[in-house]
Amino acid sequence: MTDQTVILQRRKLLRILTVGATLVPLSGLFLRNPALAQQEKVNEDDPLAKSLNYAHDATKVTSKQRKADQFCNNCQLLQGDEGAWRPCVAFANKLVNENGWCSAYVSNV
Ligand code: SF4
Repeated sequence: MTDQTVILQRRKLLRILTVGATLVPLSGLFLRNPALAQQEKVNEDDPLAKSLNYAHDATKVTSKQRKADQFCNNCQLLQGDEGAWRPCVAFANKLVNENGWCSAYVSNV
């Protein structure tokens, strides 16, 4: 493992922790009130979505950080097992497309 790889992994971890620390209190709100969690899709133009380079269609992501086999449907932060639109922890359980991607991606394989 090169120093650059370690640095990139640390940056990724810090980004995930930062997003998580920001969103965990909000997700509690949604967990306590399921009606609020009824289910809003992430807007690709939202500041958080833009900052994480989120796209509903991962093949349209221009970030070189994304690998060809990375999609929301194989990310650890996606919730549930069914449906094209599912809650994502990184977006306070708003719905993301199973074929989407963002830079907070965490492989589940
Ligand atoms: S964190 Fe994972 S599931 Fe959520 S939008 Fe990013 S890639 Fe998709």
